Amino acid sequence: MTITPLMPVYPRCGVRPVRGEGCYLIGEDGRRFLDFASGIAVNILGHGHPALTKAIADQAATLIHVSNLYGSPQGEALAQRLVDKTFADTVFFTNSGAEAVECAIKTARRYHYANGEPQRHKLITFDNAFHGRTLGTISATSQPKMRDGFEPLLPGFTTVPFNDLAAAEAAIDDITAGFLVEPVQGEGGVTPATGEFLRGLRALADKHGLLLVLDEVQCGYARTGTFFAHEQYGLTPDIMAVAKGIGGGFPLGACLATEEAAKGMVAGTHGSTYGGNPLAMAAATAIMDVVVNDDFLAEVRAKGDRLRQALEQLIPNHDTIFEGVRGLGLMLGLKLTDKAVARDFVAHLRDNHGLLTVAAGENVVRILPPLVIEGTHIAEAIEKLSAGARDYEAAA
Ligand SMILES: *Cc1c(COP(=O)(O)O)cnc(C)c1O
Repeated sequence: MTITPLMPVYPRCGVRPVRGEGCYLIGEDGRRFLDFASGIAVNILGHGHPALTKAIADQAATLIHVSNLYGSPQGEALAQRLVDKTFADTVFFTNSGAEAVECAIKTARRYHYANGEPQRHKLITFDNAFHGRTLGTISATSQPKMRDGFEPLLPGFTTVPFNDLAAAEAAIDDITAGFLVEPVQGEGGVTPATGEFLRGLRALADKHGLLLVLDEVQCGYARTGTFFAHEQYGLTPDIMAVAKGIGGGFPLGACLATEEAAKGMVAGTHGSTYGGNPLAMAAATAIMDVVVNDDFLAEVRAKGDRLRQALEQLIPNHDTIFEGVRGLGLMLGLKLTDKAVARDFVAHLRDNHGLLTVAAGENVVRILPPLVIEGTHIAEAIEKLSAGARDYEAAA
């Protein structure tokens, strides 16, 4: 037998973390890494944050799980806080981002069903989008590497180029339910939507009675310097999927919606055994206590500006491999030239310079530090990137 006990769907690298300390990960062999990947935008308070650790430990000793058949004082309290801080009137808790998107898709379809227009089921989605790995969410992307061999997929999605408002408008027909879009594409290459595009989708949705569904699984939860990225675009969605940062590492997602958009989601239409259990709610409450705070968000913006400027200053010195910086807040991407390969450069930074980043589409190195980084971490990362670029260029 050659298959590994862990199903070999990930090309796992040689870093084998066994401990985390703030913005650092420590491997099985004792090596230390500056973690500017954060479990892919998940560990927003870094590793071992005392408030998160204590909340989880205390709740684990009190009550880990009960069925959603019972009342949930913990879930009600967190949902109320999310409602108070966002466009939403109601929240469904899930265990992952893909499930949050699934709930968003179901909510959108059910809205039109409740309105007596069940034929309006189609969501317009965008090239390079990533919405998760379930059958429903891979149906919502056009990327062959996620779809091949899993067909037939779920009908009811049509994909058009990102940031192309005319293409989105042209795709609207009488079976369209709405748009599903990431305000900042993450896996696709850290590409922010233009203001004209995202506001244009909102206007088209309003004009045609469609729903604007945002996937803020990666760009939400303070990552871009506002609680949610869409706040910076001056619009609100009808439905939004959230996950990654919301539990700070505890598996949790959420689907948020307005009362109008959620009108079809009545008792019996959806469910989850674990979704929003007391342990998850304790973790998410600890995260929310820290993150949803104007001072914290202002700091994320300031650190984002600082990191971005430092990255921009690197470019002229290494312009054979660095082309530009993109992104928003602390969701940044370093676009490489065709002289370098993002996946190789990420491996080089990791193995030879002890810096963890993540490769994304369009030959981009994703830089997703914990939101609690200090100036010293920024300086250390820039040093590592600079040294890494120097010997990568020398070897090329
Ligand atoms: C990570 C991600 C998902 C999927 O989240 P999982 O927790 O892996 O299911 C969905 N949408 C976006 C934008 C993501 O970045």
